[in-house]
Amino acid sequence: MQTYIVLLGPPGVGKGTQAEIIAKSTGLPHISSGDLFRENIKNATNLGKLAQSFMNKGELVPDDVTIGMIRDRLSRPDCRAGALLDGFPRTTVQAEALEKLLAEFGGTVNYVPYIAASEATLVERLSGRWTCKSQGHIFHEKYNPPKTPGVCDLDGSDLYQRDDDKAETVTRRIQVYFAQTAPLIAYYRERGLLSEIDGAQPIEQVSLELLAVLGK
Ligand SMILES: [Zn+2]
Repeated sequence: MQTYIVLLGPPGVGKGTQAEIIAKSTGLPHISSGDLFRENIKNATNLGKLAQSFMNKGELVPDDVTIGMIRDRLSRPDCRAGALLDGFPRTTVQAEALEKLLAEFGGTVNYVPYIAASEATLVERLSGRWTCKSQGHIFHEKYNPPKTPGVCDLDGSDLYQRDDDKAETVTRRIQVYFAQTAPLIAYYRERGLLSEIDGAQPIEQVSLELLAVLGK
């Protein structure tokens, strides 16, 4: 029997770090849909070329293309015992498509850990970054502040905030995430698969609780 895990969590909650920890502890490969896209495009696979053609037109890549990449990936020998999926599904339609796909392998989604955090916590974590103008050194208002605000400790250059690191941009990004994933969270909750974990806790505690959910 395979184990398939769908890991959910908003930007800034440390999902990537936790995915690596789970992969190590369970021995299951970490399949990030973003990495899978980049890999298929880089290797110019048929699916990669197809995905690229939609992206070039500024269109969303259709679900069947993404599902095709995941099918390919899950067919590899390292996925014999299952996999940890990160970044897919994002919608209930994709969740249903994933169920059909896993059935092809004789499996199903077994666990859906959701690392949760409030909008305020996520905005604080993601928006305090300041970047050095000359060499790109990075500081954080709260977690790694420069000795003098606005000045790089290493070379004395001015620090600035990238658009992506500004509170307004980050807030919008997080609100979009919550709006888009609410139906998916409800979908997995209704099926009794969702386990919510408090992502505002220290990394080690989040890992412990995640592994407990997975029975490790
Ligand atoms: Zn600097």
